[in-house]
Amino acid sequence: MKTKFFWLISVSIVVFIALSSIQGYLIYNTYTLKRNAFMKQTRDQISEIDYNQELDSIVDFWGEELKNEIGDYKNNRISKNELLNNLKLKTDTLYPQYYQIYKRELHKRDLGYALNYKKNITSIVIFGNENDTIFPLKNEKSFKLFGADFPNDEGSSVSMSRNFSQFDFIDQTGEDIITQQYNLEVKTQDLMQIMDQKSIVFKQMAGIMAGSVFIFMSMLGLFYYSLKNLIKQKKINSIKTDFINNITHELKTPLATLGIATKSLKLQKIKENPQAIAHSLATIDRQNDRIQKLIDQVMSTSLNAGNIPLQHKQVRVRPYLKEVLEDFKAGQQHRKLFIETDFHSENAVLQLDKFYFTTALFNLLENAVKYSEDPVKIKLRTAMDQNYYTITIRDRGIGISKTAQKSLFEKFYRVPQGNTYSQNGLGLGLYYVQQIIQAHHGEISIESEPGKGSIFIIKLPMEK
Ligand code: ADP
Repeated sequence: MKTKFFWLISVSIVVFIALSSIQGYLIYNTYTLKRNAFMKQTRDQISEIDYNQELDSIVDFWGEELKNEIGDYKNNRISKNELLNNLKLKTDTLYPQYYQIYKRELHKRDLGYALNYKKNITSIVIFGNENDTIFPLKNEKSFKLFGADFPNDEGSSVSMSRNFSQFDFIDQTGEDIITQQYNLEVKTQDLMQIMDQKSIVFKQMAGIMAGSVFIFMSMLGLFYYSLKNLIKQKKINSIKTDFINNITHELKTPLATLGIATKSLKLQKIKENPQAIAHSLATIDRQNDRIQKLIDQVMSTSLNAGNIPLQHKQVRVRPYLKEVLEDFKAGQQHRKLFIETDFHSENAVLQLDKFYFTTALFNLLENAVKYSEDPVKIKLRTAMDQNYYTITIRDRGIGISKTAQKSLFEKFYRVPQGNTYSQNGLGLGLYYVQQIIQAHHGEISIESEPGKGSIFIIKLPMEK
């Protein structure tokens, strides 16, 4: 049963983790799809901005400058590095104008979110008898032609273009002045950076996310609820089995004794002996009492603090407790019992229902005896402050573990292992004690250590 339960929980946890992972994966996929769709939409919107005469003329202007610089370079007037530096300087001067137009066009599109844009030069190659790569050089993969400053890896590509043109320039490097023709290839890449892209996409996914979280939480709740119920059912089942075993066990002995006693009454030699008849009748009486007590105990479980019919009376506590202890001792002749008292409140008077309160005290004292070995040492102490009257019953018995203490006052609870089988009982005594004390608006608690003994503390409110 235990392994079945263990497997059930393990499989449920694995299924739960698998479901959560699948859900996580689906959410991630949805995010990627949404992000791509969002990027595509933005890309489509901004790519049209480039079809603009003003912007084209600025780019053309730059192109002319490039050709002039190449002319100087080919005539050895400037080096490759100087060519690039000059180009970069030119881009810097053209930048404000380009950016202004670009911003204006962007504004017209009314995207509804902030966006940065730039055009990068990725390659400049002069094709001739020998190809001459002006750019890229070494580590520099691209440089910004126009647009905003942001790292390339934070942007995503909008478009790439390759511009191929033929041009003539005057070559003065030799003795003759000749016109040379070159093919020039310029590659560019447009990049965009959408600010707050993640949060925009997440906002678009808010519905799906909320639905997922809701489903996930519901699943978690249902899982927790089912597990809790399962554990509860299991506990109830074992309580039921324990209770049936206990009550059968408890009834067996008095019933067997009753059987023997009644049979013996039929015997001729007993019939002729009045002393033996009296002995058998006394046995029948005692067993009858025992069965009656058991039935009362089971019946009492239907009562709780709210419906115990208390009849309060003014009770002077000290003489009352002394009387209870005397009566209790009288019923424990078969045990070696020492009860010490320590009364700290001479004349206290409380509102008590003597019948029920005595039952509660008897249950506690009986337990103190039941779960101790001879000689049994019990100490009853009383104390009083402004708010509470306290009665503590201390024994030097087997004690109760911290874990068991948590369930001690529950109906049918018996400390599992050890003493459960060494002592008979139904696990109803302490439950009933707690209900009686609560019906008196008081509280009961326990302090105990296994092997050292237990202290039950009853606190009753003082009337003001
Ligand atoms: P029962 O004694 O019929 O089993 P109770 O409700 O009176 O039922 O007690 C519940 C359990 O608490 C007992 O089974 C016993 O294990 C433990 N217990 C109660 N009183 C004491 C005590 N004074 N010392 C040690 N264990 C106790």
